[in-house]
Amino acid sequence: MLYSIRMRSAINGPHEEGGSHISGAERIVREEELEELGKELINRALHHSKGKADFINIRIDTLEEEKIQVVEALHITSSEVESYEEGRLLGKALLVKAGISEIALEKAFTLLEGLSLNMRGAIVLDAITGERLDEIPSRGVRVSHMDVWDKKKARDNLEARGLGNIHVQEALVLASKVLSSPGIVAELCWSDDPDYVTGYVSYGQTYHRITKMKNYGSPMGGRVFFVASHTDYEKVRHYLEEESVLVRIGEKG
Ligand code: AMP
Repeated sequence: MLYSIRMRSAINGPHEEGGSHISGAERIVREEELEELGKELINRALHHSKGKADFINIRIDTLEEEKIQVVEALHITSSEVESYEEGRLLGKALLVKAGISEIALEKAFTLLEGLSLNMRGAIVLDAITGERLDEIPSRGVRVSHMDVWDKKKARDNLEARGLGNIHVQEALVLASKVLSSPGIVAELCWSDDPDYVTGYVSYGQTYHRITKMKNYGSPMGGRVFFVASHTDYEKVRHYLEEESVLVRIGEKG
């Protein structure tokens, strides 16, 4: 039997009562791994650079194994930049290559740069018109039910490339699930973790890491998913939030 285990934590009360988001994490594991992982996730919520959570929610659901989909991880490339301004310019240039219109780009950066509270999920924009499609602006769409296919292989593969940081693995899993969704053409992300300034843009088969996308110490981050015009948003939301996906990292040469 496989289980989905999800943790979200906040400070000043639960998210739904106005608490501000501290951290969240997702895994798909076997029964014998649940207890250990529960401890690890509680530890993560209590010892985070954004503060000590006073609300922690851990949810465990059984999964129907035959419904779990397996997708290949995106290829990783990295670009070194000197400043976050340079990083964001590079991010914009990549998104133009991905076919995102000027108007959608402008909207994406204005929304992310204008956030005063971190969202738990991502903003979803039409890649051409820039229209916002997610329904609850303070929450966005939250990608869930995902993990790596083979934990040891994934860790060994990323470590051998100097990318052993758990942030990279989690972001690669999320980005690979996101781009495997019907209708999604690209993603833009920078972390809300004050210590982690690397961000990324993903499109096609590639996850482009950009070493600076925000100032060190900033507690603000966010994600934007760009979808092709005329995509059925409900299908995208359902896939991202409810369908289970395992991502194969390091399985192909
Ligand atoms: P992180 O990379 O975990 O620091 O997250 C950066 C931002 O991405 C957060 O502030 C959220 O807005 C968004 N985010 C985090 N996790 C998810 C998720 N599972 N699905 C959608 N958006 C997320």
